Amino acid sequence: MVHEISAIAASPGIAIAPLRHLRLAGEFVPRYGIEDDELDAECERFRVACTKAAEALERLKEKLGEAAESVLGIYDAHIALVTDPRLQSDVEAGIRKEKINAEAALQAVVTGYEQIFRRIDSVTVRERAADVRDVGRQITGMLLQRAQGNDGDDGLDFILAVDEFLPSDLGKVDTKHVRGIVMGEGGRYSHGAILAKSLGIPCVVGLEHELAKLPAGGTVILDAERGRLLVDPDRETIERYEERIEESTAAEQRIFEVRLSQSVTIDGTPVTLLANIEGTRELDALEPGMFKGVGLFRTEFAFMERLMFPSEEEQFELYSKIVESMGGRNVTFRTLDIGGDKPLQYFRTPVERNPVLGWRGIRLTLQWRDIFYTQMRALIRASSKGPVSILLPMVTTLGEVRQAREILDKIVGDLRSDGVDVGSELFFGVMIEVPSFAMMIDEVCDLVDFISVGSNDLAQYLLAVDRDNPRVAGMYDPFHPGVLRFLAQIVERTTVRDVPCSLCGEIAGESEFVPLLLGMGWRRLSMTPVFLPRVKLALRSVTIDDCVDLWTEVRAMGDAESVRDRVRNFVRTTNGAREKA
Ligand code: PEP
Ligand code: MG
Repeated sequence: MVHEISAIAASPGIAIAPLRHLRLAGEFVPRYGIEDDELDAECERFRVACTKAAEALERLKEKLGEAAESVLGIYDAHIALVTDPRLQSDVEAGIRKEKINAEAALQAVVTGYEQIFRRIDSVTVRERAADVRDVGRQITGMLLQRAQGNDGDDGLDFILAVDEFLPSDLGKVDTKHVRGIVMGEGGRYSHGAILAKSLGIPCVVGLEHELAKLPAGGTVILDAERGRLLVDPDRETIERYEERIEESTAAEQRIFEVRLSQSVTIDGTPVTLLANIEGTRELDALEPGMFKGVGLFRTEFAFMERLMFPSEEEQFELYSKIVESMGGRNVTFRTLDIGGDKPLQYFRTPVERNPVLGWRGIRLTLQWRDIFYTQMRALIRASSKGPVSILLPMVTTLGEVRQAREILDKIVGDLRSDGVDVGSELFFGVMIEVPSFAMMIDEVCDLVDFISVGSNDLAQYLLAVDRDNPRVAGMYDPFHPGVLRFLAQIVERTTVRDVPCSLCGEIAGESEFVPLLLGMGWRRLSMTPVFLPRVKLALRSVTIDDCVDLWTEVRAMGDAESVRDRVRNFVRTTNGAREKA
């Protein structure tokens, strides 16, 4: 019988396909009893999984070839752990004593080890806890693949179930065949959700413990329009959903038709549409008429897909390729925004109690100068190929802006005196994500060429709601009047100061937000590329005067629900009613 599970819709669309688990996070490991006469076989199953995990690690190490010793060292440490006789005997003892499956026994042992390591007050030893957890996941992965008959790539379409979809997962699954993604963790604006959107794959998030229970191989319907997952649907339900897929394909057709039209409102006000990208992949799917440039290149994703830091030359090559492919249109590169919810596996930062309030973004790179210098040099050199904007993430103080500017000026001077080409269109800007920094907007305007507002993090800090935590995901509401008023103040000040200011958080790509944003004064919106056509249709269906009236009315409202209702009503009456001729 069909079983319906509520989830958070994170990337729009509907998909129907069999479900496949990529991996299961430590806490979602299944637990079941083992009969006395099966205990030997269960122990053997565990030994085989360890051997396979060690072989997989060896293969990965070989693939790395001549990588740095420090990187290879991580693999050696993991291989030693996977084959550690102590781990083997502790898990086997657990299986026999508790009469439980190998995955559950392994999880108990790993948790025990982790607790011991965590109690020791040394960063190195605490990092060992992360190694143990990682190794536990690898062995669990081996055990579960066999238990679930998941044989990897067979060329069939499927819906992917995963704790959190990570950039490194792109190498593990063939995204051509991924019809939908179901995540255990994350919120609507988490990085996993952004990645799904950038691939144009429907996605629901926040299933938590329900994820592990989803039956591998069974057909599911993923409804990311209403935030539902339907497990084991009957024929009638499947047919109903197939009809909905057909209907939305027709609506998509209209959106597709306007994709290359001018980006202007009915009264002729131009709005600059820009793309947020994480790599070259998204650019391939874009036609030049769809957008004016790249408003946000999240450089950290290129770092996260690798196993070690890219050199200056490697970075220069990547950045140059992107700048060249843009044919004279500007590319805004954000400097490395790691830390917080975006860790680098080969650059371990100390365990933090509050990572999103911790050592991340520009705070980290200004202290780790060689990483920053290398990236800045590569970016500045890439400006010789076309217009480049350099954007600093997570800025809190004017001092950070000045320090970064000094570094930029020094590198430009050094390169020029060494006869290295530096472009004439090189711009310097900051992200506004930290509320207190936003309140310094006038002083910020004196120090930069442009500003980009990251509403994902800004809303997280304004609302005091973790954007990745499914338990409070419902409270992460950018329609909160406090968030809206804050956004309006920023664009009012930057307009007075005549400093180009774009909005690059996810709401810039939500067509429902478009009238409100236009009414506040926003004229530069940067978004996940799949949303460019629908945002274009939305802005071509409104006049600025109507948007200003809408914002004036909404500005006085006291709660998110009233705002949302009013905006939806506005969108319903304008959408398709009139459109820019
Ligand atoms: C933001 O915070 O709004 C933003 C664009 O940056 P990211 O989503 O990468 O944190
Ligand atoms: Mg951010």
